[in-house]
Amino acid sequence: MAFLELADLRVKYGNIEVIHGINVRVEEGDIIAILGANGAGKSTTLLTISGLVKPSGGSISFRDAPIHRFPAHTIVKLGIAQVPEGRRVFGTLTVRENLNLGSFVSKDKQAISKTLAWIYELFPILSERREQLAGTLSGGEQQMLAIGRALMSRPKILLLDEPSLGLAPLLVMTILQTLREINRSGVTIVLVEQNARAALKLAHRGYVLELGNVVIEDDSAALIANAEVQAAYLGGG
Ligand code: ATP
Repeated sequence: MAFLELADLRVKYGNIEVIHGINVRVEEGDIIAILGANGAGKSTTLLTISGLVKPSGGSISFRDAPIHRFPAHTIVKLGIAQVPEGRRVFGTLTVRENLNLGSFVSKDKQAISKTLAWIYELFPILSERREQLAGTLSGGEQQMLAIGRALMSRPKILLLDEPSLGLAPLLVMTILQTLREINRSGVTIVLVEQNARAALKLAHRGYVLELGNVVIEDDSAALIANAEVQAAYLGGG
């Protein structure tokens, strides 16, 4: 039994198929990296898992039950939350208000405040800035907020689209280390990254997507040692 499984998944935009029957398996507790060039279909894959884009063929199962026909809000309730590309926080709301928006799946006030305390522990800067408007945060802080907001739904699986995009190297390290901590607390992670080196350091396994096909899949260490991966994604090694 796989925790999350994409089986022969196909996705079309209009008449154009952009994901051509991919197979991806994610075990509980994994950190999986999805690598690939611009336009390879990485974002589309995550959006399809989240239910924001519907597949044209194949299936997505979570704990062996098909979920690909469910609307996005049902998928969040089942325990799969996405941090969208480009952060997309609500700039005119405060940090705390943005986080509250992520807790819509629960009405249990005590559980919500416990989760909030956990997020402030993971990202102390968000606690310091809880009354500040999100639009005034730095890019890195907005990324932390976007991750925090997704965590408010207490997901079993966290999907992240390019969390390191546009961030200074030190911040990239901080965010990736926090993702490791989140994973250790029991959250399975699927990460899309252009920063392949950083992603493979964090992940247990990785998939390389090219033009809507999985062309390589392996353990992270094997991918780092793979000559093709080195040439195409790790700047020649
Ligand atoms: P990037 O890193 O640039 O986001 P990606 O690997 O995430 O790349 P996708 O964004 O999933 O790739 O795009 C896969 C293909 O689907 C590309 O050819 C892209 O042009 C196309 N595409 C993406 N979104 C749409 C859309 N809303 N309508 C039509 N085509 C789209």
